[in-house]
Amino acid sequence: MSTAAAKQNLLDLDREGLECFFADTLGEKRYRAHQVMKWIHHHYVTDFSEMTDLGKALRAKLEEHAEIIVPKVQFEKPSTDGTHKWLLGMDGGNAIETVFIPADGRGTLCVSSQVGCALNCQFCSTATQGFNRNLSTAEIIGQVWVAAKHLGNLPHQRRKLTNVVMMGMGEPLANFDNVVRAMSVMRDDLGFGLANKRVTLSTAGMVPMIDRLGEESDVSLAVSLHAPFDELRSELVPLNKKYPIAELMAACQRYVKRKPRASITFEYTMMKGVNDQPEHARALAKLMRQFGNAVQMKDAAKVNLIPFNPFPGTRFERSSDDEIHAFQKLLQVSGVLTTVRRTRGDDIDAACGQLKGQVMDRTRRQAEFRKQLAAQDISDAA
Ligand code: SAH
Repeated sequence: MSTAAAKQNLLDLDREGLECFFADTLGEKRYRAHQVMKWIHHHYVTDFSEMTDLGKALRAKLEEHAEIIVPKVQFEKPSTDGTHKWLLGMDGGNAIETVFIPADGRGTLCVSSQVGCALNCQFCSTATQGFNRNLSTAEIIGQVWVAAKHLGNLPHQRRKLTNVVMMGMGEPLANFDNVVRAMSVMRDDLGFGLANKRVTLSTAGMVPMIDRLGEESDVSLAVSLHAPFDELRSELVPLNKKYPIAELMAACQRYVKRKPRASITFEYTMMKGVNDQPEHARALAKLMRQFGNAVQMKDAAKVNLIPFNPFPGTRFERSSDDEIHAFQKLLQVSGVLTTVRRTRGDDIDAACGQLKGQVMDRTRRQAEFRKQLAAQDISDAA
């Protein structure tokens, strides 16, 4: 490595990448990478001079070739219900949001994968911001790092941060490599040590990438369905024009077949008079039945009803509690395991679909993104 080369941000690497960096770039033993991972993710140390079990010469070499850059907290806001939101500054004046939600003995962090989003789901406030860019691995795992540090999360202790859901801004499967690498650090004992099933990736339904995820990673999958009919779903989630419900369901079937113990959560945002009628519940139950009979299905597929969270300018309204419960009942009598998500963080605009960073100069970036879309093969839908 020449001294002129840019320094490697170690937060961009998972265990394997860091081992290679130590062996190939630094000419050091691979296990040194493990010591550094622990300093970063267990002790929240980002200054090589504080890594006291590394020799002076190695610390100097690291100083020369590497850096540890964590996202900068621009602003943070605790909510009265224990929810905590961070606004993290990204380059170019952009910001992303990360939200911590404690409930029932668990602590769930909602992590973003992109600055903005290109999928243009009609009921999601992130869509109104347009799309700027993918987040790097460092920016994704950095969100977990910032939250875990704030919470005083220490390894080998009862953890406060127990779950991660990739349900913040962006479509995680459109940023596949960086998201998979970051999820690997979340689950690594030298990273945050979360159980596989406690890391959930949520997708609007990028069918080929669901297959790839099944091959390459071992996390929980959530699919944002929101409608049981193609016409309605294409209106709400334009990606459906590219990957209609039958194709999406087939990919979900392949996913659970490949991973016999996996289950898929189908998310369904409840919007008054739009998708919350008995005919929708019955059609949804029929889709869920494809996952097996009532008993098996409870393991393979479940439905999570999300009361719609309003945001300024939206044309949708939240279904009433009565409608949501009637909908839930109809699914349950068909043998579909159905939960209703409790809405949290309302008072700090941190509820689902309310996350928005500041995406500037939207028009220019939309044009840029159209070019990227061609490469990512989701252009028809956006
Ligand atoms: N792009 C991914 C992850 C981000 S959305 C996906 O679509 O799954 C995370 C979840 O929040 C999705 O189920 C999404 O549909 C839901 N959501 C979006 N906007 C919402 C709103 N206004 N109210 C309630 N839930 C919403």
